Amino acid sequence: MQVNRPPSDWLPITRKEVLARGWDELDVVIISGDAYVDHPAFGSAVIGRIIESEGFKVAIVPQPNWQDDLRDFKKMGKPRLFFGISSGCMDPMVNHYTANKRKRSTDAYTPGGEAGFRPDYATTVYSKILKELYPDVPIVIGGIEASLRRVTHYDYWSNKLFPTILKDSGADLLVYGMGEIPLRHLLHLMNDGHPIETIRHLRQTAFLQPGEEEIAADVPWETIHLHSHGRCLRNKRSFASNFKHIEQQSNKVQADRLVQKVGDKFLVINPPNPPMTENEIDGSFDLPYTRMPHPKYNKRGSIPAYEMIRFSINMHRGCFGGCSFCTISAHQGKFIASRSEESILKEVEKVTQMPDFKGYISDLGGPSGNMYKMKGKVQEICDRCVAPSCIHPVVCNNLDTSHKQMTDLYRKVDKHPKVKKAFVGSGIRYDLLVDDYNKNNDGSLDEYMEQVVCRHVSGRLKVAPEHTSDATLKVMRKPSFKHFHKFKEKYEHYNKKHGLNQPLIPYFISSHPGSTDEEMANLAAETKDMGFRLEQVQGFTPTPMTVATVIYYTGLHPYTLRPVYTARSKKERENQHLFFFWYKRDNYHKIRDKLTSMGREDLVEKLLHDRKKAVKRDIIKGRKRRKR
Ligand code: SF4
Repeated sequence: MQVNRPPSDWLPITRKEVLARGWDELDVVIISGDAYVDHPAFGSAVIGRIIESEGFKVAIVPQPNWQDDLRDFKKMGKPRLFFGISSGCMDPMVNHYTANKRKRSTDAYTPGGEAGFRPDYATTVYSKILKELYPDVPIVIGGIEASLRRVTHYDYWSNKLFPTILKDSGADLLVYGMGEIPLRHLLHLMNDGHPIETIRHLRQTAFLQPGEEEIAADVPWETIHLHSHGRCLRNKRSFASNFKHIEQQSNKVQADRLVQKVGDKFLVINPPNPPMTENEIDGSFDLPYTRMPHPKYNKRGSIPAYEMIRFSINMHRGCFGGCSFCTISAHQGKFIASRSEESILKEVEKVTQMPDFKGYISDLGGPSGNMYKMKGKVQEICDRCVAPSCIHPVVCNNLDTSHKQMTDLYRKVDKHPKVKKAFVGSGIRYDLLVDDYNKNNDGSLDEYMEQVVCRHVSGRLKVAPEHTSDATLKVMRKPSFKHFHKFKEKYEHYNKKHGLNQPLIPYFISSHPGSTDEEMANLAAETKDMGFRLEQVQGFTPTPMTVATVIYYTGLHPYTLRPVYTARSKKERENQHLFFFWYKRDNYHKIRDKLTSMGREDLVEKLLHDRKKAVKRDIIKGRKRRKR
């Protein structure tokens, strides 16, 4: 729905809008790989609004054309302080290609869902263009792509190790993670006249230094020297062992600085900031977003990613799950930064006032649905902790897993006169709700579960056990599948109690490091026994900066340096994926042959006995049709 608001309610994205504000020069120009949606879920909007809130003049150039005469890169002129680049909310390669490296035909972050508005490796492409056009203007890169490619990493799409993105992009400074706090400091330092090459003490930033002797010594942090990029290229074991430090230091309260030799330079990654305080995170969400795409897109069709979140509320950031295949903690950290109830309720009020709001909030959530307000009982213990997960292999004794504040907040949102239903669309960590697994139950878990079942499930509840094999689940840092059985019982109990029929939809991953063909066959048989026909499944995609990706590339677990089996070839990956779809006629013979060759005739019987009749029926029908 189009809304009659003046373009000046948005940050400027055209020269005309800049001039209309009476600005003849900008302090910062943001180049973004995504369309500009002025909403707190979209990185360039958050960064733009932060810069504006600090009193600086900022404009956004969304999805510039990198293939013409580069007029988009020139139209805002030369900014006084720096160019900021973010390729968007997703790594461009994940956005552009499937797990099988096939080009996608759509892009959720572009109007009309059209593909082709952002280059592969967009941060580097944009940065190189700007360095050509404006060699004397500093470039600061941030966002998912820059953040997760900040150090030597495996790039699945070109099947090789890349150095820090600072090297190829030529950018001057990299801000990793959620950039609000370092960005505020950076703006003022640069405004006070500090040249960018002298800004070397800012937390949560990374940069390349020409020589080791030039690395600042007067810092309050210890330094960990990683294996050099060159050594990683030569030795997979060195690359794997680097990752343990990278993950630990990304998630520590008192982290160390990381230094890595890259060619003849030195990459320095300063430690992250502590998790945002309630005031700080509220400050970011309370900025004057219009919560809508820029009106320039009105005629270009809706932006799918925006449609998904336009009536949703993010209650917190961070995730302490530490799943091996996930990048959330590498970007947002494992400590939870929660918004205040007031800030969330204020946003609920804003959403209810949106002209096309029909009474349904699509998500009251966060990276994991049920971690709001959770933290260590004794902070000093967390301050010294290096565990990558607070809930694996067991729920930490020090973790306060009370769901009470969440339940109370859900009820408050539920009571809003304009809210018919507020769903929890974010994935719920089901293991936190299982008594056998979560020994820290303070009595709030069942109340939460009942509240969710009765009021917050949108037809079906999706949860992510990810596998059924305990060995693979251990590699994934997920709990044993036996806990999923318990959760299912509990979930069905509450549905029955309230006369509801809301199916449980489990998510699974094939070809994750550790997973064998036989385990996939067992997965298929066990989930079939439970009455599931799986649909929410995916093949593992090795994205930069995860434990699982390091295993995929090196064959070694970065914490133990022991070998871990991984399906790598296209054929191996397809073989694993096939088992999800045992119920499809076309797969019958392939699965039967595969199981027979494994010596698992028992599974042929279990998985396919009822399919045999269906396949026969289809063959007879086909013959009859041909005769006619
Ligand atoms: S001490 Fe426990 S709760 Fe605190 S960070 Fe470590 S694992 Fe998490």
